[in-house]
Amino acid sequence: MFRLTTINNRSAIEVDGVFHDLAKVVGDESLADPMNAIARFSELHSASDKVRSSGSPVSGPIGVCVPNPKKVFAIGLNYRSHASESAMEVPPAPLTFTKFPSCLVGPNDDVVLSGPLVDWEVEIVVVIGKGGKNIAESSSWKHVAGITLGQDISDRAVQMTGQPPQFSLGKSFDTFGPIGPVIVSVDAFSNPDDIGIWCDVAGQRMQEARTTDLIFNIPFLISYLSSICTLEPGDIIFTGTPDGVGAARGQFLKAGDVIDSGADVIGTLRNVCVEK
Ligand code: ZN
Repeated sequence: MFRLTTINNRSAIEVDGVFHDLAKVVGDESLADPMNAIARFSELHSASDKVRSSGSPVSGPIGVCVPNPKKVFAIGLNYRSHASESAMEVPPAPLTFTKFPSCLVGPNDDVVLSGPLVDWEVEIVVVIGKGGKNIAESSSWKHVAGITLGQDISDRAVQMTGQPPQFSLGKSFDTFGPIGPVIVSVDAFSNPDDIGIWCDVAGQRMQEARTTDLIFNIPFLISYLSSICTLEPGDIIFTGTPDGVGAARGQFLKAGDVIDSGADVIGTLRNVCVEK
């Protein structure tokens, strides 16, 4: 198993709570590029073992664990609970939009509010490690480098403008995609289809669910998306958010709010909301 992220724009692996420079541990400078490390994810298990005999500790703020994905897929209305609170019908196929990669930020970065109707959405994020086309559900986990956590921050005014509304821009303001803190290999989960996630805003629990409640689970999403787009290493999928978003509560993010997000095994994000 391994835990991968970036520190000082270089790949870092976490072992026993300490981060190490991956390229220095392995003796291969090409692994300093995190997108390269993701594409070579099968080598990271032994690299993590090697840290115990010859580590290369690094420190500094944790950066974006997938800094340059070619594609960022995001799935709407993918928990039954959230479809119901949004008064929307369960979709016949994954309702897919994109978050443009420039919105991605690190696990402790600020979220810059674009207006008065900005909302939280905690989500499990899948990181593709091995590309492919028409990937079968039964083999889809073999294509996953690992799993991380994300916030699909959404400006509801911009998201819902026009008919039919187009979600992508309202979810792509700069800083609207905190992810991390690390990519965790699939073998670290006792069941990767059953991960608990939660989100607190200003100290109040807003969302709490397990990925067993997904309408379209991770293997199905990989199979479905790869039947349309060739998947490539480093592509990521925001898999959808459970109930408890602000729009359903009539409450939105304001400057000074702290968004605390968490997931089993993966860890936590802490993002402070600031005025633009
Ligand atoms: Zn979402």
